[in-house]
Order: sequence, then structure tokens, then C-alpha cells
Amino acid sequence: MNATTETRKFEAEVAQVLHLVTHSLYSHKEIFLRELVSNASDACDKLRFESIANPDLLGGEGVLHIDVSWDEKARTVTVRDNGIGMSRDEVVANIGTIASSGTRRFLEAMSGEQKADARLIGQFGVGFYSAFVVADKVTVLTRRAGAATDAGVKWESDGKGEYALEAVELAERGTTVILHLKADEDEFLKRWQLASLIHKYSDHVAFPIRLPKEQDGQPTGEWETVNAASALWTKPKGEISDADYIGFYKSLGHDFNDPLAWTHNRVEGSQSFTTLLYLPAQPPFDLMMGGRDERKGLKLYIKRVFIMDAAEELLPNYLRFVRGVVDADDLPLNVSREILQHNRQLERIKGACVKRVLDLIEKLARDEPEKFATFYKAFGNTLKEGVVEDHANRERIAKLLRFASTRGEGAKQAVSLDDYIGRMKVGQDAIWYVTADSYAAAAGSPQLEAFRAKDIEVLLMSDRIDEWMLGNLDEYEGRKLRSVAKGEVPLDEADKQKQEEATRAAEPLLKKLRELLGDRVADVKVSARLTDSPSCLALSDYEMAPHLARLLREAGQELPESKPTLEINPAHALLRRLEGEADEGRSKDLALLLLEQAEIAAGAALPDPAAFVQRMNRVLLER
Ligand code: ADP
Ligand code: MG
Repeated sequence: MNATTETRKFEAEVAQVLHLVTHSLYSHKEIFLRELVSNASDACDKLRFESIANPDLLGGEGVLHIDVSWDEKARTVTVRDNGIGMSRDEVVANIGTIASSGTRRFLEAMSGEQKADARLIGQFGVGFYSAFVVADKVTVLTRRAGAATDAGVKWESDGKGEYALEAVELAERGTTVILHLKADEDEFLKRWQLASLIHKYSDHVAFPIRLPKEQDGQPTGEWETVNAASALWTKPKGEISDADYIGFYKSLGHDFNDPLAWTHNRVEGSQSFTTLLYLPAQPPFDLMMGGRDERKGLKLYIKRVFIMDAAEELLPNYLRFVRGVVDADDLPLNVSREILQHNRQLERIKGACVKRVLDLIEKLARDEPEKFATFYKAFGNTLKEGVVEDHANRERIAKLLRFASTRGEGAKQAVSLDDYIGRMKVGQDAIWYVTADSYAAAAGSPQLEAFRAKDIEVLLMSDRIDEWMLGNLDEYEGRKLRSVAKGEVPLDEADKQKQEEATRAAEPLLKKLRELLGDRVADVKVSARLTDSPSCLALSDYEMAPHLARLLREAGQELPESKPTLEINPAHALLRRLEGEADEGRSKDLALLLLEQAEIAAGAALPDPAAFVQRMNRVLLER
């Protein structure tokens, strides 16, 4: 021990990650190599980038590489890179503490209802800890590029709660990670095993990954590159196999699933760039966990030099599920994030990315319905944000949306707006929908009844985002989108007359209800929407759906109180009964129950649920 050695405790959450990882990754333990190689590759990328401004950082060692070796006697596997390295402070900040919100998100995802697969560890920025799945001790030796040889750092831990830090002399820059393998992990001490894992997981890392060369089973003292080690996207399409594309995606996205589809394009001209963009088959957990602030997955390269993760600069938020690479020829290498945000060239590249992705999704919708359904299940709700976010592409995006419908197959979201328009009845001028907070509530909305009776199709929307999206989609292909719960319903002349007569006939009943309900309602009207139910709520065109208002209030938002209009079906037996009821108390119970059941069906919050229950019980017990 020397004077500069110190022992520190892992932060509580790191200890939790370690526990989780070692227990749940066991059946896929080999991914530790992918994660360590990925870190080494990131470190080489960082050095290459920093050396643009500061070429001295490369010193004499201009070729960046990653070396994997093993020692049968010592029972160690070592991953070494000559990349950027870390200072003591960086070691402390990056391994052992929570460098990003990734740790927390990983823990949430691993313990949440919808459990994440531990193999996704790399997506959460905690991949380093996978080393402890196969090692009972990990030693990191590292020296920052440009730092003096005595500025090396040794970090060591058994992954049980503490790590030791020590200043050491290191002749070379970069990072060496030494895994002291657990007792039964001998399989990783074999060259063929390491080589095959590198092929499987890291073939598309753009730096050479080397293993000690052997001849007739004996080391020759030289190194041999075992991966493809080239920037895949720079090759002509004709030379890239599907397997190559898939392999590249997997190492790029730390995903173990195949991507759903991809699009690879080169634009030549006054501004040249290459894009290789993928649609994943499943939402990365980050997306689900509201990972909006730290978006990774779209890498910006300039002339093959990795510059930064630039998903936010290169794609609008509603396409944040896309993974891939953009390589621009004409941007300045010393570009900063601030510059990127206001760069006209980048705007053009962003426009091209959006176009490519929408083209790709359209192609899936047209040619590969099964894949499109998979895509839509995973990302349909995210895509809907585009209706609000991307005015220029609103119609294109709307065309891709799918909904459940009164003519569809149950809750399956498979009806497009074009399908709907194709089935519209003669004289029908609007696209009708209903929103609710579940499919069942939407399908059971009393407001649908008249539409059912007239055989007019209604789209059934039950995702939280729908109401918000519809606020920004009044029209599609020249047809208005209208809620069955709002405004007037379409009546032909005969209906209108019937409605007027019914209103006249029901005038005493309406008056009675207005008196009984007082200021609980804005008005009481005879409904043109109902055929079977006794009552429903009606909203003005600009009112927020009650279920949404409830959700927003529950989330702490202040909304102006608005009183509902109650619509009634005078032909219904309950209204007949109210009409004939002389007793004041019983009349009041009935009137309030008519209002409350309409509120419940619309997903509104009852102002006084206990009073409702008492009321209902009184009425149930009446003889
Ligand atoms: P991520 O790679 O997603 O950031 P990791 O847990 O794999 O998460 O790594 C944590 C951090 O540790 C990295 O962001 C990096 O700063 C640092 N690190 C890990 N390995 C290396 C390495 N070989 N060279 C330099 N820094 C490294
Ligand atoms: Mg990593």
C-alpha cells in the first residue's frame, strides 16, 4: 500500500446495480466482453476527436486499437485500449459513482412491472459493471492521454461494496481492464471462445480488436486483428449483407434483438453525407422510461470521426426510437453542440433523416404488414407526437396511424384514416371518433349509440396521447375529425323533426331536471346520440374530454371548472319513472344518478363518490 491508496464505498445505487447484474445476467454472462470492448471503442473515439484540436495527444501512437488477451495461469482476461484513458477524478466520477441517470433508470426498469432484460445493460450507461458477472475482482489501470506517466490510476474492486484507488506509474496512455475470473469461468480463457464472442458482438466496432497471434497453439508474440474493423456505412450497399447490417445495429444499440428494418443512403452533391438508420423491433427501455433528456442511439460522424451522440440535433423528438449513424463530409470537425443546434447544413441533414425514416415506415406499412404491426405496437404512440410536433409532415404521419374502430377487430389498432374514408357513408362528411381512457370505455360510450344505429363507423381511441394529438388534427384529406361526444351530431331532416318534437314533448321533464340538478349542470337537453342509455354528457367543441381532465387534475394541473351539459333519452324507462315520480327526495336521487352515471361513463371524477353510493343503494332498496 502506498500513501495515495484510498478505499471508497460504492454509492448505494451502484451496489444495487452490481447485485442485480450479477444475479440476473448470469445466463448471458458473455456480454461483459461486448460492454468492455464498447467502452474501449468509445475511449478510442474520444481520443480521435480530441486529437483534432490537440494532435499531440496521440503522441507516437497514432493507430488506435483494442487488445484482448488472457492468462491461463493467472486466470485473467484483459481488455486494453490506447484511447483517451481517465484521470483519477474521472475514474471516481465514471466508475463507482452515478455518472448519469442511467443507473436509476436501469434499477427502475429491472424492478418495474415491465421488467427489462438485463442484457440491455449497455443501453443504461452501466455496462462496465457487467464485468463482475464473470470476475470476482476487477482491476482497472488507466492514464489520461496527454498526462504524465506518473499520473496513472489503479482502481480495484471485488464488486462487493468498496473499491480501492491508487496512484501508479503507467508507461502507456489508455485503459487496461483486468478481470480476475470466478472459479468456474474458465471457458473465457480460450482463444477460440474470445474470438467467437468478438465476432458475435463486436465485429462492427470500427477499431481493430486484436488477439495474440498463435501458430500451432503457440503464441508468436504478434497481434492479430479479428474483427471487420471498418466503418460499415462507408461501404457500398452492394457489399453489405443483411447479417452485416444486423450485426452493426446490435453493437450500435446494445440490443440483442434484430432490428425491424433499416435504410442506408448516400447523398452526393453540394453537401454530401451518409445515413444508416434503423427501426428497432422493441422500444428501448429508455424510451419508455421517459428518457428524453439523455438521448443516445444516433451517432454523428464527420468524415468517419465520431463526433457525438446527436439524436436530438439530428431527429425530431417523435422519432427518438430511431438508431443509427450519420456521417457528414462537409461539417467542420471542431463543431460543438451549440454550433450544431443552429447549423443550416445540419438542418438539411435532419430533414433528410426524417424523410428517410418516414419513407421506411411507409414502405413497411405498404409491403410488410406484420412488421408494420410490430413497429406500430412499439412506437405508434411515439409517432403520434409527430402530428403535434411536425406540421410539415402532419398528413404523412396521420396516414401511418392506426386505430381501433367500431368496424375493427376488437381492441386491435388496425384501421387507418384512409380505410375509414373508404368506408364513409354517402352524405357523411366527418371522420368520427370517441376518446376514453380504455378500449372498453371507448367502445361502451353511450354517445356512440346513435352512430351505431345509423351504421356510421366511429374510431375508438384510448391512448393518453390521442386527445392531445386530436387537438392538432382537425382535418385529414379534407375531412373534419369530430368527436361523437362534442357539438351537434349529424341529423338528417327526418331526425331533426323527431328531435324537435321530442324536445317539445319532454319540456316539463327537462325543466324538472334543471331544477333538481341546479348548478351541477350547465344545461339539460334531449339527446340525439342515445338509443339505449338513459343519459350521457355532451361537450362543446372546445371542451376537454372528462377523462383527460381527470388525469390532468390527478397529475396536479389546475384546470378551470367546467359544468357538463347532460343529455337525456326521454324514451328510456328511467326517465319515464322520473317523470311520474312525485316524491321530491326520490326525484332528486334519480336525477343525480342520471348525471353521475353519465359522468362515470365519460371517465370523469365524481365530486362525491360516497354520496353517489348511498344514493344508489337507496334507489336499489326501493320497492
Ligand atoms: P457507458 O459506456 O454507457 O457510459 P459504462 O458503465 O459502460 O457506461 O461506462 C461508464 C463510464 O466509464 C464511461 O462513460 C467512461 O467514461 C468510463 N470508461 C469505461 N471504460 C473506459 C475506458 N476503457 N476508457 C475510458 N473511459 C472508460
Ligand atoms: Mg459502456
